[in-house]
Amino acid sequence: DLPPIHGDVEFKDVSFKYEEDTPMILKHVSFHAAPGETVALVGPTGAGKSTVINLLSRFYNVTEGEVDIDGVDISRVTLKSLRSQMGVMLQDTFIFSGTILENIRYGKLDATEEEVIAAAKVVRADDFIRDMPQGYHTEVQERGSTLSAGQRQLIAFARTLLADPKILILDEATAAIDTQTELLLQAGLNRLLEGRTSFIIAHRLSTIQNADQIMVVNHGEIVERGSHQEL
Ligand code: ATP
Ligand code: MG
Repeated sequence: DLPPIHGDVEFKDVSFKYEEDTPMILKHVSFHAAPGETVALVGPTGAGKSTVINLLSRFYNVTEGEVDIDGVDISRVTLKSLRSQMGVMLQDTFIFSGTILENIRYGKLDATEEEVIAAAKVVRADDFIRDMPQGYHTEVQERGSTLSAGQRQLIAFARTLLADPKILILDEATAAIDTQTELLLQAGLNRLLEGRTSFIIAHRLSTIQNADQIMVVNHGEIVERGSHQEL
């Protein structure tokens, strides 16, 4: 098992191909993220951003090289002990049929209603939820059509905060949102990022500006890295 982690992440000369007899999709990728750092991954479509994330969460195993968390090669630990310390938020937030309360509690199944509300408040989701007809007990549908893209994202933030992982992965939604919602999401996200090592496939300029490190991925390689000022 992977012991409780601080969230130090290191890719050591990682190369990867999805199938045998195909070219490497990632080529000699090396980087280090210290505990608590926010790393933004940017680059054109097909560059390999999602692939980096897939290897970190061990959705696939590296072909060559090594991924370490707190100095431990993740190929040597159980998937359960790895994933339980990692929060993954993909572009399309998973909403199931049930109440908003239940949807947030999914992050920590034994959470009390008070804990759910406290988490929602931290990530700035509480206001919109209270405006719903039955507040936290409002029923939503699996397709979540009653919720806007921004609201779904806020639910994902609250859910992930409850789960309290040391490593966070966010594939930022590309859906168009208005400026006010963007500011709200930014505020909520900043609270969620506190004290976690975070990898964000970033589409919003505000996210990129706030990152400690920006890694530009192109053709399976990190072609540039630095802060927003440096790049
Ligand atoms: P986008 O911005 O469009 O999400 P990305 O940077 O996340 O792009 P990846 O999804 O990592 O790019 O894809 C990198 C390369 O790997 C692409 O050429 C893609 O076609 C290929 N690829 C991705 N997933 C698979 C898979 N499951 N099997 C085979 N090839 C894949
Ligand atoms: Mg992708």
